[in-house]
Amino acid sequence: MRYHIDTIPIWDAFKTDCECPLCKIYDKCETEFISSALGGSVMEPDTRIEVNKNGFCQTHLTQLYAQQNRLGLALMAHSHLKDLIGAVSEQAGKLEQAMAADEQKSALKRAAQTVAKNAPYLGQADSLTDLVYARTQSCFICNRLKTAMARYVETVAAMYVNETEFARAFEGCKGFCLEHFADLAACGRRYLSGKQQRAFLRALLKVEQDNLARIEQELEWYTLKFDYRNADKPWGNSRDAVERTLAKLRQWKKP
Ligand SMILES: [Zn+2]
Ligand SMILES: [Zn+2]
Repeated sequence: MRYHIDTIPIWDAFKTDCECPLCKIYDKCETEFISSALGGSVMEPDTRIEVNKNGFCQTHLTQLYAQQNRLGLALMAHSHLKDLIGAVSEQAGKLEQAMAADEQKSALKRAAQTVAKNAPYLGQADSLTDLVYARTQSCFICNRLKTAMARYVETVAAMYVNETEFARAFEGCKGFCLEHFADLAACGRRYLSGKQQRAFLRALLKVEQDNLARIEQELEWYTLKFDYRNADKPWGNSRDAVERTLAKLRQWKKP
């Protein structure tokens, strides 16, 4: 396995005390992608086509808005809007044509189609809604993050089998959020084999299970602290156990 990406951010993340080093990398990439999204690169034709086609999800639109670059956001949104208007108008034209063609048919044929719910223009109406749904359900930043994270996950697995020092850091971390745990397991399954694969999967399972048990204890102590008999006992690591449990379960971040 080759290294697909710079290993410094991986080392930095694994040296950070956190519930998931891959979430740390994700956050770093997200910040970088958001701050560059409204810069010069978005005006390059390839990027602009991708942005126009995919748009941005709600989370990333909010983050882009928080950048305070109103002109950059307006230019990007304007380009996206013009492209959307073109695409919708093309589909709407086809739907209009198909409906008009339907009206030319005999009353009998149309009645049969209505009963069977298979008028040809209905397919055209589906194409229009499919186009709009595709645009509302995609995100330029999410896509970039997905590609970057796949590379980081593969590189983590490769570093584990190639670098003893990193393997120790991996085994000593506090585990991963559930999604990144599954990503690592799937990556080990896909890209490693034999002895290396088994060693990686074993280490991953151990670190994850140990740390799920650890956080379960921390969360339990958090709940027990509400009992007046425990009021004077020390918090230990449990003061922020709720926040860290949510981070473990769903990459959650404190707003
Ligand atoms: Zn994570
Ligand atoms: Zn997004």
